[in-house]
Amino acid sequence: MKHLDEYRDSEKAKLILDAIHKKVTKKWNIMEICGGQTHSIVKYGIDELLPNEINLIHGPGCPVCVTPIEKIDKAIEIASNPNVIFCSFGDMLRVPGSKTDLLKIKAMGFDVRIVYSPVDAVNIAKQNPEKEIVFFAVGFETTAPPNAQAVFLAYQMGIKNFSVLVSHVLVPPAIKAILDSKNNRVQGFLAAGHVCTVMGFKEYEEIAEKYKIPIVVTGFEPLDILQGIYMCVSQLEEGRSEVENQYARVVTKDGNTKAQKIMYEIFEITDRKWRGIGEIKESGFKLKEKYNEYDAELKFGIVNYSVEESGECISGLILQGIKKPVDCSVFGAKCTPEHPLGATMVSSEGACSAYYLYKEKKL
Ligand code: SF4
Repeated sequence: MKHLDEYRDSEKAKLILDAIHKKVTKKWNIMEICGGQTHSIVKYGIDELLPNEINLIHGPGCPVCVTPIEKIDKAIEIASNPNVIFCSFGDMLRVPGSKTDLLKIKAMGFDVRIVYSPVDAVNIAKQNPEKEIVFFAVGFETTAPPNAQAVFLAYQMGIKNFSVLVSHVLVPPAIKAILDSKNNRVQGFLAAGHVCTVMGFKEYEEIAEKYKIPIVVTGFEPLDILQGIYMCVSQLEEGRSEVENQYARVVTKDGNTKAQKIMYEIFEITDRKWRGIGEIKESGFKLKEKYNEYDAELKFGIVNYSVEESGECISGLILQGIKKPVDCSVFGAKCTPEHPLGATMVSSEGACSAYYLYKEKKL
């Protein structure tokens, strides 16, 4: 805790807040990309301590929230096969598909297991040669390297009863889609520190230059976020549009090149649908053809799927920063973390769940 306490020091927080108050002269809309940052902002009440001129917009950086409903339905269909052991990180189990969720499938007696690493799923495949083992490979650039490593391991070991249901998404194309939208209000970004730990921040420089927008690579603790906001506001007030690195204790410009190497060995870029947002060009990963035998969609013949989102849930607008959770008519009433109607209420990184846990509107 000692190391964490350094980044939660209230005296230092007051100093940075004072500096932000002195710096700001105009209204600015700043988007924090990552759901982990949203969670810290709401948990520590950072949004309420900032000057009124600064509006924080919560971005689409929660992997559970943006996994499309079709992918959840595919996971449910695969997991409902008695010959399958379906492995996933725990937070995917409660995400609602169009009719049910993986937790209910597990309760019906199908073999759905929570694992803490994709390599655990490879080991389960080794131990259960008579079964098909499927791992739900979701997430941003942060989880792509270990998921790629699991496929590579299975390939090297000649394990044939292992496959992955891939739903990886990438941050820079999402930033560009937000900036290209006619509804865009975002004037500066706090980029997600953990994604940049893997990817570095070179790819953000072209975006900052093209769109004339400041991007600050930012961590997750309260002092990280306050400092990131200060750096972003300083750029906005001074008319600069650069990429700056608040999270230099972890992030380098080139990122983790070894992790990138294994990721690009296994995956290639593809168009990807985001839940509530729609398709974004070249915004995801799919397995390279060489690894097709590890593609669960091909193995189980469930490539084409189309499902309509519920009309009540406005998570798509929340994920684009157009609405806030409290703007949803069923927030805290019909939709709660115990009975979520949308993915942004399920995940601990989802904006709706963060608002429910830490804002006053609990019905
Ligand atoms: S409160 Fe529930 S229904 Fe409303 S936007 Fe959030 S997840 Fe969707």
